[in-house]
Amino acid sequence: MSENRPASTEEFIPLSVPELRGNEWLYLKECLDTGWVSSAGPFVERFERQIAAAVGAAHAVAVVNGSAALQIALQVAGVKPGDLVLCSDITFIASANAIRYANAEPVLIDCEPDYWQIDVNLVRRYLSEECERRDGQVFERARQRRVSAIMPVHILGHAVDLAPIQAIAAEYGLPVVEDAAEALGTVYRGRRIGSHGTRATCFSFNGNKILTTGGGGAIVTDDPAVAARAKYLTTQAKDDPVEYIHSEIGYNYRMPNMLAAFGCAQLEMLDSYVEKKREIAARYAEALGGVKGLSVMPTPPYGESTYWLYTIKIDAEGFGEDWRGVLRRLTELNIQTRPLWEPMHMSKVHRDCRFVGSTISENLYRSCLSLPCSVGLSPSDQDRVIRALVQRK
Ligand SMILES: *Cc1c(COP(=O)(O)O)cnc(C)c1O
Repeated sequence: MSENRPASTEEFIPLSVPELRGNEWLYLKECLDTGWVSSAGPFVERFERQIAAAVGAAHAVAVVNGSAALQIALQVAGVKPGDLVLCSDITFIASANAIRYANAEPVLIDCEPDYWQIDVNLVRRYLSEECERRDGQVFERARQRRVSAIMPVHILGHAVDLAPIQAIAAEYGLPVVEDAAEALGTVYRGRRIGSHGTRATCFSFNGNKILTTGGGGAIVTDDPAVAARAKYLTTQAKDDPVEYIHSEIGYNYRMPNMLAAFGCAQLEMLDSYVEKKREIAARYAEALGGVKGLSVMPTPPYGESTYWLYTIKIDAEGFGEDWRGVLRRLTELNIQTRPLWEPMHMSKVHRDCRFVGSTISENLYRSCLSLPCSVGLSPSDQDRVIRALVQRK
């Protein structure tokens, strides 16, 4: 492609932007009209009830963002300073960072090659070969550090195969905290993520997620004690409803009423958003499935994906262009794409962590690209993306 080609005059197609066609204005107006704009108000409870109901859990605690949800869920699950937490190696950095916020350290687990999720065989291998059990607790032998949780991350809108993770966690007496920031609406074995009885499941409502509150998160659980403790810690650990008495350090991690109102409006649309995402995915799969050198992220047979970020794998040799080339070329055509995250074990901030695995996550990182897949993506814009991707000179 020539260097002096004029910049594309075609309209910009973003990767993933919010869809705002429901009652957002109406509910926000209600907040403004009633004065309930901040950290208390009726929408917070309503949003918590609705999010719990939407995923099929008993309780939800709304918080400022997904990162805070993860930090608090880990702390509530019993993660203490100095502990080790098993975590997916390929994920957005917020997952591993949240473990650090809890003053613990990630043990990074490579993904399996079939569906790109945390490899349960590596979890088993690490626990059985590198850890020992003492007094009902699990310790990594080499460093004599306690292992206190497993945090699988459902990546890109596809589910982790939870059952084997839960089985091994039960065997070792470890709680499972799910990072489901990208998996709202994703189904695993017939039920949505969030309803599978783990200690807690965390969601994010950041602007680029399937549903947004502008910024927000939630901790979802079936255990009333976990929910109560999460509420306590995220509301400055207030011991008395009237007097300002505190016996531990809490956090101001509340979701403001205005954002919860926004979230209530968005939640009403969730099913239609999921449906739309699946239609977009089906169109991409059909158009790209047979292209030499391209493959689409496989959909696990044990679930129903939401395809949060629709992701393809590019075999540079077969396709004749690597992901960077494709990204650059589509950028020139005003089409936004995004590479996969640098695996945590390669990132500057987490590369000192123990990494269990080989090169699966690294290879994915070096070959994957996410394509535009906003809920509002029109068929004609999607066709433009497909044409741009496939028709090279
Ligand atoms: C978005 C995301 C988070 C963090 O959520 P925020 O609301 O942005 O703090 C955590 N984990 C994963 C996998 C995410 O994609």
